[in-house]
Amino acid sequence: MAQEVKTTCPYCGVGCGVIAKIDDDGAVSVKGDPDHPANLGRLCSKGSALAETIDLEGRLLYPQVDGIRVNWDDALDLVASKFSEAIAEHGPDSVAFYVSGQLLTEDYYVANKLMKGFIGSANIDTNSRLCMSSSVVGHRRAFGSDTVPGLYEDIFEADLVILTGSNLAWCHPVIYQRLAAAKLERLHMRIVVIDPRRTMTCDIADMHLAIRADGDVALFTGLLAHLANGPAIDHAYVESFTNGFDAASQSAMGYSLPEISKATGLTIAELIQFYELYEHTEKVVTCYGQGVNQSASGTDKVNAIINCHLATGRIGRPGMGPFSLTGQPNAMGGREVGGLANMLAAHMDIENADDRDRVQRFWNSPAIATKPGLKAVDLFQAVADGRIKALWIMATNPVVSMPDASAVEAALKACPFVVVSDMFATTDTAKYAHVLLPSLGWGEKDGTVTNSERRISRQRGYLPAPGDATADWWQLSQVGQRMGFSGAFDYTGTAEIFAEHAALSGFENRGSRDFDIGAYSDLTKPDYDGMPPFNWPQPVSIGTETTRFFADGKFFHADGRARFIDTTLPQTSRIDVAYPLTLNTGRIRDQWHTMTRTGKSARLSSHIAEPFIEMHPRDAMEAGIDSADLVEIESPLGKIIVRALVTERQARGNLFVPMHWNEQFAAHARVDTLVPPVTDPYSGQPASKNIAVKMQRF
Ligand code: SF4
Repeated sequence: MAQEVKTTCPYCGVGCGVIAKIDDDGAVSVKGDPDHPANLGRLCSKGSALAETIDLEGRLLYPQVDGIRVNWDDALDLVASKFSEAIAEHGPDSVAFYVSGQLLTEDYYVANKLMKGFIGSANIDTNSRLCMSSSVVGHRRAFGSDTVPGLYEDIFEADLVILTGSNLAWCHPVIYQRLAAAKLERLHMRIVVIDPRRTMTCDIADMHLAIRADGDVALFTGLLAHLANGPAIDHAYVESFTNGFDAASQSAMGYSLPEISKATGLTIAELIQFYELYEHTEKVVTCYGQGVNQSASGTDKVNAIINCHLATGRIGRPGMGPFSLTGQPNAMGGREVGGLANMLAAHMDIENADDRDRVQRFWNSPAIATKPGLKAVDLFQAVADGRIKALWIMATNPVVSMPDASAVEAALKACPFVVVSDMFATTDTAKYAHVLLPSLGWGEKDGTVTNSERRISRQRGYLPAPGDATADWWQLSQVGQRMGFSGAFDYTGTAEIFAEHAALSGFENRGSRDFDIGAYSDLTKPDYDGMPPFNWPQPVSIGTETTRFFADGKFFHADGRARFIDTTLPQTSRIDVAYPLTLNTGRIRDQWHTMTRTGKSARLSSHIAEPFIEMHPRDAMEAGIDSADLVEIESPLGKIIVRALVTERQARGNLFVPMHWNEQFAAHARVDTLVPPVTDPYSGQPASKNIAVKMQRF
């Protein structure tokens, strides 16, 4: 008898509901879940191809030590003893975990508990650092907490939707489909796309602003200056609910339009047209993606955007607000349980002694991290210079995805002890593991994820575990027990972990103002198994959700008021005579991250079969490059070779290369080997855009 299981797509932060159908012969097919609020039955190409990526080819099926198959006991004993030895000899900060927005919330929770509460270090960071950590800091600076104010329905109810640094059509395709449908129904809706490239998203745009890389702070600072003396400022709102408007607006007005024009690369006419559209449209949502976050000025970009919404009171109301589009399926779930090196579980603050005390008492733990740990770029630097003696990497492939990827590769090669937990045996990172631990993948593992609108959904396992593969939370718990922390890590399943996480979120009622799903702390396993998608927070009882934040004008700073942040215009140009072109990295429609899963689908790979470089015809002509030529791109860190795509969609002087291709699918095409380890000063997020390079025909 065929069986249907409701689960969630494991790719992007839209968090679409999926129905997996398992036929009597074991064949799996998928379709969109019409009852899931995120997608209402839609799926994009990646989600639709999920069933094509679940075969066992390339899977890591058994634990290995130095390439030799071993049993779980031997592998786990070795991991526990090596971590314990390093801690005994060099202290807790000599070990680190590097985890992933692909982990489920329950995995993330156990990893954080082990590192921050029992090992006593905060050296646990995540590939979400590469994705949205500037939004986290921007939120915290403005609102006093890492809170996404809005819901997807706000995007579709807005009269003006601004998409900045977001190729929504390819990177959040179901939101794009729903936005396109909303625009057809609401003919007065206007869409503005702000991007150096004319991407597919521009197909539904009324205005495309081909901004200079990293020109966003200038664009939104100029907008604040334009709004400051006009009719759109909501003086009552500003006075009642915010601090810092006068300083921020005065500072913004210090820049002239010609200066803003120069910093953004946009004409004064384009600026005025955009500013007036914003000024005269009440219901505005500003969505921002990796073009905002992956920048040396990412946090200031986020705050420059939020400043304009606060100044006009366009936040916390239907169809209005700033909206961070998270990249990964569970970047938000990781944030909820303290997945970043500078956070504690349940959005508590590692630098706040009361929060540390509360978490330590809840966990009844022997130690608690007392200072922020190493953020991703610093973490791998610490591996490189020998400070980290034992590293555990879970569900991510930093040898392809980290900036200065060749240096990361060299660091892993030199690290005394590397553990990698992954579905696959042959990733670029797995090569450097002393211990390889086989993990369950989508369709096999069980837990929860949280999408961009704070909606928690179940991922449900419906396939048998292949070989000896196990859940990441189980691996962590076993190592925790073997390190002497038995009692705290004797979990028997994810329902139990989720209930503990929910209880911590509501512990001593601190969560009621911020993140709280305490109502779920008594959840039974059958309740968990049947749990429908819901928005956090739900502090009081199940079904009493707060769906939109800040409707009452109350924010999370101690005085209850939001903050304007004075954003000075950053130095944006990185090019020079030797490296005269600006490279932006990004994603394509049919691949996900480093292609370890989507690369298995012939259908997905047929969309774009090779790594490529998108360039303007004039830049191509000056370099003597024709379409489909092989091109060598060089930065001070290295060279890669990819295929030329010559198109007027690209702005002159700018190049685009996707970040997906690993060595298995294309040799010498890892674009992150060109990306310098430059980070945002507040968030530590690497700048994966705006890289100075040169190119020549290969
Ligand atoms: Fe999956 Fe994102 Fe596509 Fe939805 S939009 S099906 S979550 S990849």
